Amino acid sequence: MAQALDADLRRALAERLRYYHELGIYDFYRRELQVTESVASVSADVAEPASALRSQPELREEMAARKPAVVAAVAEENIFDLLTPKPEQGVVDSNRALKLIREDLGDCMRCKLHKQGRKQIVFGVGNPRAELMFVGEGPGADEDAQGEPFVGRAGQLLNNMIKAMGLRREEVYIANVVKCRPPGNRTPERDECETCSPFLMRQIAVIKPKVVVALGAVAAKNLLAINAPMSELRGRFYDFMPAGVRSSDGWLGAKLAVTYHPAFLLRDPRQKGEAWKDLQMVMKYLGLEPPKKTEE
Ligand code: SF4
Repeated sequence: MAQALDADLRRALAERLRYYHELGIYDFYRRELQVTESVASVSADVAEPASALRSQPELREEMAARKPAVVAAVAEENIFDLLTPKPEQGVVDSNRALKLIREDLGDCMRCKLHKQGRKQIVFGVGNPRAELMFVGEGPGADEDAQGEPFVGRAGQLLNNMIKAMGLRREEVYIANVVKCRPPGNRTPERDECETCSPFLMRQIAVIKPKVVVALGAVAAKNLLAINAPMSELRGRFYDFMPAGVRSSDGWLGAKLAVTYHPAFLLRDPRQKGEAWKDLQMVMKYLGLEPPKKTEE
C-alpha cells in the first residue's frame, strides 16, 4: 500500500539522493514494504547503498559517475568567510598558527558528528611546514581512539607508501576532510564535510605544501569540488588553492594529486601498482628518490 511521505521527509530524501548522485551513486533498490513497516523504513531503504559502503570503504573508490566529466570546477567561496579575520592570519610560525586553528575549533559541536559517538577530535598530525600533505576522508575507530589520523592498518600502509617515497611520516602532514569519526565508518555526509572542511582548508593554507595528495574519492571530491570517478581523477595534477582562505606570503597554492585510499588498497592489493604510479608522479614533482635498499 502506498503511503504519502511527510513533506520534510520527502525533502530530506530528495536531498540525500542528490548527494548520492553527486558521489556517482545512481542505483538504488527498495524492499517490498510490509504493511506494518513505518514510513521511517523507506528512508532506511534509500540509505541502504550507503550502509553497504560503510562496511566496505573500498567500494567508494571506484564509484562510476555517469556524468562523463567534472561537473563543478571550483568550490564556492563565501565572501563573508574570506573577509572574517582568522586568528592564525599574520602568524608566521606555522606550528603556532595550527595551534590557533585547533583552539578555534575547540570542543567542536558544529556538525552532528559531535554527538554520534566520537571520542575525540582528530585534528591532524605532522610537519607544520611539510612540502607534502595527505588528506583522507575521516577518522576510523583506531584514529578516534588515539586522536591521530591514519594509525590503523590503513595507516600502516600509508606509512609504507610514505617510506617508499623516501620520506618519513614526521616529514609530511596528514589530515582528514572531517575530524570526527562518522558512526560505523559511514561516508561523511555533505553537510558534515561542508562544516568541517573550512578548518582543513585553513590548515592547508598555514602549511602551504607544494603537493596535496587526496586519498580516495571522497577526499578528492571535497577538496576539488568536482564529481568524477577515480579513473578520471587520478593521473594528473590539479592547481589547488584552499577554498575560503586568502593566499599569503606569495604562496600560489599547491599541486593536488588523487590516489586510492589505503583502506581500498588493503582490500584490493592489485591496485597498489596504480597507486605507486600516482606517488611516482608526486615524487618526480618534488624531486624525491625512493630509498636505496641498503639504507633500509
Ligand atoms: S566533524 Fe568537524 S565540524 Fe563536525 S563536530 Fe567534528 S570537528 Fe566539528
